[in-house]
Amino acid sequence: MALKKDNHSVDNGDEKFQKDDVSLLESKNLENKIEIESKPLETSKGDNNENGFIDFGFNQSILNSLRNKGYKNPTPIQKAAIPELMLGRDLLGQAQTGTGKTAAFALPLIEKLTDNKELNAKVLVMTPTRELATQVADSFKSYSSESSNFKTVAIYGGTDYRNQISALKRKVDVVVGTPGRIMDHIRQGTFKINAISCLVLDEADEMLNMGFLEDIEWIIDRLPENKQMVLFSATMPNEIRNIAKKYLNDPAEILIKSVKKETQLISQKFIYVQRHHKLEALKRILEINNEGVIIFVRTKLLTTSIAEALENSGHSVAVLNGDIPQNQRENTVDRLKKGFIDILVATDVAARGLDVERIKLVVNYDFPFDKETYTHRIGRTGRAGRSGEAILFVNQREKHFLRNLENSTRNNIEEIKIPNNKVINEKRMEKLIANINESALAQEKNEENKALMIDILDNLKEKHSMDDSNIAMAAINLVIGNKSFFVNEDETWIYKQNNTDRNRSNRNGNNRLRNSNRRNNYQNDSFETYKFNFGKYDGVRVANIISTICNSTNINGRSIGKIQIFNDYSLVDLPKDLHIETKNKLKKIKVRN
Ligand code: AMP
Repeated sequence: MALKKDNHSVDNGDEKFQKDDVSLLESKNLENKIEIESKPLETSKGDNNENGFIDFGFNQSILNSLRNKGYKNPTPIQKAAIPELMLGRDLLGQAQTGTGKTAAFALPLIEKLTDNKELNAKVLVMTPTRELATQVADSFKSYSSESSNFKTVAIYGGTDYRNQISALKRKVDVVVGTPGRIMDHIRQGTFKINAISCLVLDEADEMLNMGFLEDIEWIIDRLPENKQMVLFSATMPNEIRNIAKKYLNDPAEILIKSVKKETQLISQKFIYVQRHHKLEALKRILEINNEGVIIFVRTKLLTTSIAEALENSGHSVAVLNGDIPQNQRENTVDRLKKGFIDILVATDVAARGLDVERIKLVVNYDFPFDKETYTHRIGRTGRAGRSGEAILFVNQREKHFLRNLENSTRNNIEEIKIPNNKVINEKRMEKLIANINESALAQEKNEENKALMIDILDNLKEKHSMDDSNIAMAAINLVIGNKSFFVNEDETWIYKQNNTDRNRSNRNGNNRLRNSNRRNNYQNDSFETYKFNFGKYDGVRVANIISTICNSTNINGRSIGKIQIFNDYSLVDLPKDLHIETKNKLKKIKVRN
């Protein structure tokens, strides 16, 4: 069935929202389409007493559960979709996770099922992954927590059938599941679909990417003919439009343009790094930020090897991949939410739809296969209106994919450098000082151990003749431990990385020309200019300077920047923050004797 023009979208849109709340919702009615410019969730206005959900006409139980959840105002997708769904219309929505789309379809469906006496499920929600199925089912459960006798059941692969079968035998209102397991239950007759009056396809583009099209069609063909259909997708490729055309009946179309706004909350960066330096680069990044991180890699094998390496470096880390049993995965996500683990190393499929608010950083350790994967990955941060950071590792070969990605997502991905020793050491110092300061504040409130602390202080002063500063230094020493506090590892590869990549873009001409171009063209703030008192009058040439510096110090030729030779002196750009020993060696170098 072809999409028909919808002439009543404006009437259905709540006039009050559109007039009174222009800053929150700027709505354009394009014949059969509502386009909404959305702001992040936390910008929803309203004081504590206000309940922006009242005007939808929800019953008191739903309003109570929303109050318990702390929702004060509907998000733009909720404002646009809820009135349409309450009217029983089909809906085609383009919205990403993080926009509040789950409540947008769950709330009106729960409202419609109030006092539902039917034994068999009336609503079926299909999701691409078990994680999303669990999340959506949990949302239904929490939004209906105050509604009496409302039952939501999640059915997905990777877990025992028995619990699912016994849950489906009792009264069920909503079933949320993944296509494969839904098919199994339909085939076995354990999921009775005769009463289904609404079907929701959530993250439809993902289901298609995962090859579920045939399964979805198999299921739809067996559902009762007369039903409401809702299709949500983060992107709207032709395949999704085709499904909509085939199955949706005169749908309201809602496009949440928040994709851009939401991803704007995520600052997107990339780092040039060669394959064999990736792990080292990752460790350096985690020195700066290691609380609430997801690292995306391509293979299951890599998840475990990286997690092991990070654990050996002292991080609290867990793995999420398809081989991990479902209950263990749920447990891992729960521990991440609660802060018992800080870093998750995951494959794309295992981490789909993951909604953990404390994720501050997403590292694309391996380049994503396509822009959808990238958008889903980085969407794991910047949840519920928070800001987040996404870092993409790019090697020479992936450079043009990076440009494609920027173009197709219409986002600017900014280059950053791998943190060098100086940056890491400053961060370590900053963290230590912040921890000591925090401990000082906590210590004042620690009534329980106050007497103990005073006892220890008296003991140290009287029996060990220590003064305040001795004691403070000893306590700091205890925190630092025996390991060296500052990193002093070889970092020349970091500069080499940057230069190599810049250099490769200029492939014309002979070697010498390439080198001189490289030295003269780069603009880099990772260098410092050194002045040497030899120049043209001394007969020195660029090659002499490079070989002398390389032979007298541990500086690599490729990490030397611009070289300018004047009559009686030369200026050479060298990596910033060289070790003091290297600087001393530089002071003594002689060119051509
Ligand atoms: P979703 O896009 O459905 O994955 O929702 C993203 C997050 O927003 C979830 O953590 C929801 O609990 C939260 N959320 C949804 N609607 C609202 C609302 N109206 N006010 C505050 N938070 C919300």
